[in-house]
Amino acid sequence: MRPAAFLATVFAVTGLSLAAVAQTPAATAKAADRLYVMDCGHIAATDQSRWSPGVNVGKPIELSDTCTLIRHGNQWLMWDTGYPDALADKPVSGAIGTASRDKKLAAQLAELNLKPDDITYVAVSHTHGDHVGNVDLFPRSTLLIQQAEIDFAFAAGKTPPFKKDRPLKPLSGDFDVFGDGSVTILSTPGHTPGHQVLLVRLAKTGWLVLSGDLAHFQDNWDNDRVPSMNSSADQTHASRARVLKVMDERKAQLWINHDLPSFKTRKLSPQFYD
Ligand SMILES: [Zn+2]
Repeated sequence: MRPAAFLATVFAVTGLSLAAVAQTPAATAKAADRLYVMDCGHIAATDQSRWSPGVNVGKPIELSDTCTLIRHGNQWLMWDTGYPDALADKPVSGAIGTASRDKKLAAQLAELNLKPDDITYVAVSHTHGDHVGNVDLFPRSTLLIQQAEIDFAFAAGKTPPFKKDRPLKPLSGDFDVFGDGSVTILSTPGHTPGHQVLLVRLAKTGWLVLSGDLAHFQDNWDNDRVPSMNSSADQTHASRARVLKVMDERKAQLWINHDLPSFKTRKLSPQFYD
């Protein structure tokens, strides 16, 4: 185990805050090898204002749902798992609109000659259904999730989002996944109590922040809007401010999971970013 990974484990076990130690300084961070953007669903929503209170009330919006696969040496990290693969066979309509999937996650992994068991880590930004839909596809991967999110999702009376009896590393703050600063989970509560985003460094592409649902689309991010379903408006504003600072320090891009116009500009797997 590399020193940074060892330290991170020690701090996680002792429950101390990782905020001060998990982020390798930008200048000494290594780079991940490849990043694959995967299509993990589509939402045809009937009312944008669910995410932008008072703005575009009653106006429909189409949203993407993105998964990201990262290769680091011979290890793989799956970031978010999208809607359940079953939606590729049958779209689901409900109060929000219609959720569908053009392609299964399992099929997109197979295109890369990967099986779910090849994935070392699965990390989810949070436990809403459009992000954890395929966590159970990876029963042998170690799930990286905040303890606060586990407490939130598995509270009494709620439908469990996935099987809890699995390899799982509960986090209490930031986490340097590979111990070299290339891929860091940043704790960004607000959308849910244990929401997190992913900070990634690639050699050619540079620094990226994968948003989770810190914001659902570009206009909401630009205007610092808080969706009505968020668990804490104060935490959401604070998490946004924190990510802005990290982005500013590293000249990082923000890739917003559900922002369909930007999703359409991405190279999709099996193409990749490096
Ligand atoms: Zn979402």
